[in-house]
Amino acid sequence: MTKMKAVVKTKPEPGAEIIDVDIPTPGPGEVLVKVLATSICGTDLHIYQWNEWAQQRIKNLPQVMGHELCGEIIELGSNVKHLKKGDIISAETHIACGHCFLCQTGNAHICINGRIFGVDINGVFAEYAVVPASNVWILDKKIPKDYASVMEPLGNAVHTVLAGEITGNTVLITGCGPIGLMSISVSRLCGATKIIATEINDYRIKLAKELGADVVLNPKKDDVVKKIKEKTDDLGVDVVLEMSGNPTAILDAFKALRPGGRYSILGIPDKPIEIDVSRDIIFKYITVQGINGRLMFSTWHKTARFLSSGRLDLEPIITHRFRLEEFAKGMELMESGNCGKILLYP
Ligand SMILES: [Zn+2]
Ligand SMILES: [Zn+2]
Repeated sequence: MTKMKAVVKTKPEPGAEIIDVDIPTPGPGEVLVKVLATSICGTDLHIYQWNEWAQQRIKNLPQVMGHELCGEIIELGSNVKHLKKGDIISAETHIACGHCFLCQTGNAHICINGRIFGVDINGVFAEYAVVPASNVWILDKKIPKDYASVMEPLGNAVHTVLAGEITGNTVLITGCGPIGLMSISVSRLCGATKIIATEINDYRIKLAKELGADVVLNPKKDDVVKKIKEKTDDLGVDVVLEMSGNPTAILDAFKALRPGGRYSILGIPDKPIEIDVSRDIIFKYITVQGINGRLMFSTWHKTARFLSSGRLDLEPIITHRFRLEEFAKGMELMESGNCGKILLYP
């Protein structure tokens, strides 16, 4: 057998097709993985829709889409010593060079020469995929297999929530897509004392409440800043976790954050946004930080421990499970917002 089914971005236009492509061969330091489950990320949706960001960023068509992975190792390339056939794995999706300034100073997740599955190189929406051994994360047997696929975005949530103080803090989470929802769970687990979320989609509002957000506001109906002030003794929240990429949400969150607070941004706006730096940052004495990827690999260790402890339940967040062939249905659902995380099974 030399061919496999894969979801491939074939043309620089909206959409993707499922076609037969060659099964990749693992080179030195790589492993071949049978994909057991994969999941759809916002990035995949942007590539599928072929938005402005994707048009600038994606260079090598045709390319297999997808990056979130649960797989079983079925073949080892040369020089792979610490892994074995049959290992069930997840994978860090940022492939670092290992020798640049950032890699050498503990910041491999923002490696200058970094490449990402399904963005810069062939991804994992396929029956098989090749993964560098140094990116493999061996799954704890206590963790349900298909959660491996969701560890990567969950790692984004863990990285963002834990990028500053959270215990005993009041938190605003703007946007309840899958990572926003996961951030509600992680914030609760880590001792946030009041969790306020904002979201416009009814399906996700309901999920946010189920996961334990204390207040869920709808910017289409509520005066978000006023309500947040009311819920925080007129002070504003201690921490903002921005998960929407929406310009209005981003600007309102500056107003809802208390002076001296922390503003961590993971959501990606697709255009530049104008900010009043003196009023909203300097005189307010706040800390603004961008979050990218996961710390390699301390975020992975924490994420795995949260899951194997049984204290973090992903089940309410995984709302749909489809066959890989049904990827278009998954993309449509993601577009509508009427879903949490969507898993695909080859
Ligand atoms: Zn992702
Ligand atoms: Zn590097």
